[in-house]
Amino acid sequence: MCGIVGVHGIDRAAEVVFLGLYALQHRGQEAAGICSMEDGHAWLHKATGLVVEGFDDAAIRALPGRTALGHSRYSTAGGAGLVNAQPILARYHRGDLAVVHNGNLTNARVLRAELEREGALFQTTVDTEVIVHLIARSREDTIDAKIRDALSHLIGAFSVIITVGETMYVARDPWGFRPLVLGRARGGWVAASETCALDLIGGRIACEPAPGEILKISGESVETLPSLEPALSPAPCIFELVYFARPDSHVWGVSVDRARRAFGRQLAREHGVDADCVFSVPDSSNSAALGFSEESGVPYELGLIRNHYVGRTFINPTQKGRDFAVRIKYNAVREVIDGRRVVVVDDSLVRGTTSRGLIAMIREAGAREIHFRVASPPVISPCYYGIDMPTKEELIGARKSVPEIQRHLAVDSLGYLSLEGMHAAVAEHGPFCDACFSANYRAPLIDIEEGMPANSRC
Ligand code: AMP
Repeated sequence: MCGIVGVHGIDRAAEVVFLGLYALQHRGQEAAGICSMEDGHAWLHKATGLVVEGFDDAAIRALPGRTALGHSRYSTAGGAGLVNAQPILARYHRGDLAVVHNGNLTNARVLRAELEREGALFQTTVDTEVIVHLIARSREDTIDAKIRDALSHLIGAFSVIITVGETMYVARDPWGFRPLVLGRARGGWVAASETCALDLIGGRIACEPAPGEILKISGESVETLPSLEPALSPAPCIFELVYFARPDSHVWGVSVDRARRAFGRQLAREHGVDADCVFSVPDSSNSAALGFSEESGVPYELGLIRNHYVGRTFINPTQKGRDFAVRIKYNAVREVIDGRRVVVVDDSLVRGTTSRGLIAMIREAGAREIHFRVASPPVISPCYYGIDMPTKEELIGARKSVPEIQRHLAVDSLGYLSLEGMHAAVAEHGPFCDACFSANYRAPLIDIEEGMPANSRC
């Protein structure tokens, strides 16, 4: 779960990347990095925490040039240290080489073991570094062919932006798991995980690289390199639409807001209920709750308020525990809830811990009945393609039946959107990968099949 940005042909490119990362902050808050290129040489700055914490004016001004790459990182299995933050930079004889990657390779451990046997020395524990080694070791003649050759060895999810000198390459895996758009801004080019980054920069979308497509951007020219071997079926991640992407973004040409509203409307058709009001668990389920209200006619209210200033790492030494963590983040509006039959819409249930705390809070605020509605099916299996999810044992949808979850949450009724209903709601844009809801993994899980632990996500 990461956000990536690449800028080519724009003055003070690092500043533009910074803005892009700022818009993509929701995709990763653990660390951020920007690498800029000038005259074939690269400058790099990485910092832990939010983009705005790691980059002041001086840090951005110290990154010269008209080409730059950036990355914001979410939690990792590969280790949280700064060494694992991206961009990954290598001093390369054809010009400094930098890579940013969103996704998770499912054969990175196997590739890494092979490369290490051949003498490669790795500096990080993230799968992205494999790409750098594969490029450097490719026996193809041209750098374009080396990049294609390197990418053709990868299995799993990768939306990548690569720079060699000032030339920028943009590519997506053959399944198209993770989003990536290419836009025009300020006379140059901007590639970004989501369109909300283009909006902030003042750009407009030029194209979305197709699954398996590799674009080479140099000056005004955008060249399409020979595509990667196509997958049996493209499989963009439906969880981007359910939870991860911002509702003001378009991913895969789909408005995330419209998709979430469609999920909410379908949820209302499947699990309608007689109630006085419906509200969301802000902010990720706002659009779905609106859709539920539109379809059912149950009035939309603001029953929960979220504190936007809670950092991910906030730990109160005197009051630990998950319930307290929920109270720090949310509070109930008693005037909306007291004495009423309420529908609470959440976008997804993962561990079920947040919801349990929220339900207790809503009950304390005087709710007469609580009808919990989830705008996606039960999450039953981990994601190996780049969404940070707990192990199967921790997933409440894998351990308990729907009636058991209803009892666990202590709600009057519980309804999940069906798998068929979710796909039907966005059918014109599919098919999608739904592995976390179905355990149907479309790209082979090579590392796991080889008995190696699943790799780090980014
Ligand atoms: P819980 O069921 O307590 O694990 O929390 C589920 C809530 O966390 C959902 O309603 C989402 O808003 C949010 N969420 C879903 N997936 C993730 C994820 N992979 N990482 C962090 N938060 C998530």
